[in-house]
Amino acid sequence: MSYFRKELAKRQGDSRSRRSWLFVPYDQLSDEMGPLSREDPKTLGIVLVENPWKPSRRPYHKQKLALILANLRHFALEQADRGVAVQHVVAEGPYATALKPLIPELGPLRVMVPAERELRIDLKRLANQGSLQFIPHEGWLSTSDQFMESDGKAPPWKMDKFYRFIRGTTGVLMEGEKPVGGRYSFDVENRMPWHGKPPSPDPPSFPKDPIKEEVGELVRKAFDHHPGRLDLDALPATRKDAERLWSWAKAECLPLFGPYEDAMSHRSRSIFHTRISSLVNMHRLLPSRVISDVAGMKVPLESKEGFIRQILGWREFVRHVHETTDGLRNLPGGKTPVQKAPGDGGYERWAGKTWGPGKKAKGPDGGAAPCALGGDTALPPAYWGEQSGLACLDTVVSDVWAEGYSHHITRLMILSNLASLLDVRPRELTDWFWVAYTDAYDWVVEPNVLGMGTYALGGLMTTKPYVSGSAYINRMSDYCSLCSFNPKTDCPFTSLYWAFLARHEALLKTNPRLTMPMASLRKRSAYRKREDREVFGRVREILGKGERISPKDL
Ligand SMILES: Cc1cc2nc3c(=O)[nH]c(=O)nc-3n(C[C@H](O)[C@H](O)[C@H](O)COP(=O)(O)OP(=O)(O)OC[C@H]3O[C@@H](n4cnc5c(N)ncnc54)[C@H](O)[C@@H]3O)c2cc1C
Ligand code: SF4
Repeated sequence: MSYFRKELAKRQGDSRSRRSWLFVPYDQLSDEMGPLSREDPKTLGIVLVENPWKPSRRPYHKQKLALILANLRHFALEQADRGVAVQHVVAEGPYATALKPLIPELGPLRVMVPAERELRIDLKRLANQGSLQFIPHEGWLSTSDQFMESDGKAPPWKMDKFYRFIRGTTGVLMEGEKPVGGRYSFDVENRMPWHGKPPSPDPPSFPKDPIKEEVGELVRKAFDHHPGRLDLDALPATRKDAERLWSWAKAECLPLFGPYEDAMSHRSRSIFHTRISSLVNMHRLLPSRVISDVAGMKVPLESKEGFIRQILGWREFVRHVHETTDGLRNLPGGKTPVQKAPGDGGYERWAGKTWGPGKKAKGPDGGAAPCALGGDTALPPAYWGEQSGLACLDTVVSDVWAEGYSHHITRLMILSNLASLLDVRPRELTDWFWVAYTDAYDWVVEPNVLGMGTYALGGLMTTKPYVSGSAYINRMSDYCSLCSFNPKTDCPFTSLYWAFLARHEALLKTNPRLTMPMASLRKRSAYRKREDREVFGRVREILGKGERISPKDL
């Protein structure tokens, strides 16, 4: 018997009958919300499912598998310690199939409406049979009605409008009717590059324990074919670990969070970002709690507001966009195409073999595949770790495969930017993000990649594509100092940027936020435009083959 099972058995009382049972999915691991927060633990039971079917669908990062399993097991022990009965099952197949055999013994289950659409769809048939009851998810900070009320019913939706509205209704950072400091956003102040000073804090490490060790063993044995590095020292899994990470974030990151929010560096993976997203998305840290802690902190307002906007604004906003559009399937222009099976994010081309059962796996489809700009390039193997010769890309990709994390601007202005400039298939990029990042779930990764990162949703939630040439990357990072390209002379990003604008001119020329670049494009000589096209073709070809590009290739 495993250490975990023994420990769980030790903590379990005898009374399993006459309990009211909840199914607690992998991303609702909190007893500070829902029935676990207010009903007597001795009257409650929880069902926790470990399900190898789920990771078999996509080549998820090993660190992500370990993070989820270790948190789930620690949560099981924590709840058993409180007197909650715990039914921990390992089952194969969709969650509805895994739960069904338990119903005759436990009776109908309750579950807070899952954040992931995939899981909602999976569980629907149990709900339809009356074996499962959906109850409200209490981890969110806003309701669908508030989202609708904030910005009218029809898209395009604007995060700023939603954010102002929700600041007003929650009263967070408000003085009566007015925002603290006289403005809702201090974003324009938050655009400083970072040159190593003030020093960025080293992220905390977390003590190993027998549960983590056992999960590590399991991942190494059963999921060794998954990509990514497993690092148990960087794995927060207990309540104490979550507190440790959050204390570190408050003390070391929050004071300087705002000014350096957009900076990127090879010297620090997170600079002053908090690294809490994975724990917040699993509810090991509650969004309401982190917001109220930060609102009460004595830190500069641009940092305080900048952080609160991410959680109360962006995080809630993307979830509403996802839910309201049924996972980006129902868009104003009609229904979007849907990928039949889960995508592998380009794994097969890189690894030279298909991803296990992914394509044949039973269960929900592979997600919406909108593509407003028509990109149809395969994601280059460089995203899986092949050296590209582009120092910015290679640095960020290596960070991602080292620990399943990189901060926001690297996701947007390096990974998504280059993919957009190369006309990569947005769905394939989304699947890559989904498997590679420990904080990725459909509700958050799909709108961020398809909406913000690649403009695949057109103007549904962003006003323009976030693309740039080398000037931005050079200004906001130190990557160029490591590169064989020169950002001022031969960096391909700049030609790729102009080639992108030229290719999509018909669609973008009336965009008011692109007036200046489109005017510059019109002034660009025919000769330069031809050169831009050639660079696009060559970079796409070389990276597509998984080869390294150098200045002599262009
Ligand atoms: C292309 C792309 C893909 C992304 N994919 C994901 C994803 O799969 N999962 C995910 O949680 N975030 C995603 N984000 C949002 C954001 O990049 C991460 O939440 C953030 O980088 C996490 O690191 P952190 O905890 O250090 O964040 P911090 O910079 O410290 O921010 C604090 C918190 O704000 C929240 N947050 C900030 N921006 C967003 C956002 N746009 N959407 C949702 N929450 C936000 C997160 O909970 C984050 O922990 C993505 C952004 C882009 C551009
Ligand atoms: S020179 Fe260009 S490719 Fe190299 S790091 Fe800078 S932006 Fe990236």
